Amino acid sequence: MSKVMIHPAGYHNVREAVDRAFELFPVPIAGRKVLIKPNALRASEAGEAVTTHPSVLRAVVEKVQTLSPASIVVGDNPGMFNYGANEETFTRTGLMEASLGRYQNIGLDSLKVDFNPDFMPAVSVSKIVMEADVVISLPKFKTHGLTVITGAMKNCYGYLPGAQKAMLHKAAGNPARFHEMLVDVYRLRVPDLFIMDAVVGMEGNGPASTELRDIGLILASDNGVAMDSVVAALMGCDPSRLRFLQKARELGLGDFDPGAIEVIGDLKPIPGFKLPPLGGEANIDNPHVQQLIESRVVLRPQADPELCTGCGTCVDHCPVSALSMKEAIPVVDPGVCISCFCCQEMCPEKAMALK
Ligand code: SF4
Ligand code: SF4
Repeated sequence: MSKVMIHPAGYHNVREAVDRAFELFPVPIAGRKVLIKPNALRASEAGEAVTTHPSVLRAVVEKVQTLSPASIVVGDNPGMFNYGANEETFTRTGLMEASLGRYQNIGLDSLKVDFNPDFMPAVSVSKIVMEADVVISLPKFKTHGLTVITGAMKNCYGYLPGAQKAMLHKAAGNPARFHEMLVDVYRLRVPDLFIMDAVVGMEGNGPASTELRDIGLILASDNGVAMDSVVAALMGCDPSRLRFLQKARELGLGDFDPGAIEVIGDLKPIPGFKLPPLGGEANIDNPHVQQLIESRVVLRPQADPELCTGCGTCVDHCPVSALSMKEAIPVVDPGVCISCFCCQEMCPEKAMALK
């Protein structure tokens, strides 16, 4: 039976929860090479809750330092296209300082490994991911328009440097296949320990929504499927409806069934938690949820002219060239767009929404 810890915490006392996580999930670390991977989606302020909070990273680095590892590397591959240029994200989010000198640009050195040929025959993975003896994943408690939640399993998407994330969005082509592809990325290297920042979470149209929620928790587990099941339950979403959890169970990676998970702490759904439009609401209320998730693909991005600065970032990052600038505002070709959410994720002004 998998275990998931739910521990009350604030950013001022997060170390207590981290110590408890290591007591419950004692990963052998002495003399081993450790990768600590926060969710560093993109350059943003820590208070925007787009990334793992630096207090959580700092507490984990401090803890691991006391356990005599051979080496510690802190790193992630943010965004979609910034191959080898990760420092800006780590610096602006405060994750660089919180790395206590252990930061490494893991996008600069990668290995080619076999992948599911339904999507791509091979992918390049940051070398340290494949070489680390221990991987500690630090996901953020957030919603995601395409996968409903972005938690333990989705955090592994950052194993892939550069444009491959967008290429896989394109290869997946629709939300159901995207869910399945995520599991294939997750199992490239299943992390040994997950410590999730759920002190301040994100609801609504994540993963870069402005709707934040004080939750006051740190979660931990040594099984990402079990952790994501608990995250879904906290968000008020039935985990059995999520295709990526179904596929993970089919592959023997864990179980989302509440009867197969020992929760250490208090699991109470967060009252009135806002799931993403369509994906989330469908998962709660509609028995034909998979069909509705499929229909997510009909959503198309629309820029808010009040917020859009015409910077062109979304146009540059669209993996299928579905966006072009018309009168200084991006316009989508609906016949080409694959609803991959990359433009919404990358817009620095939060001007892009899927409608
Ligand atoms: S990235 Fe955002 S601000 Fe820049 S052009 Fe696109 S919608 Fe406008
Ligand atoms: S327009 Fe946006 S949602 Fe559509 S394919 Fe391009 S990046 Fe993805």
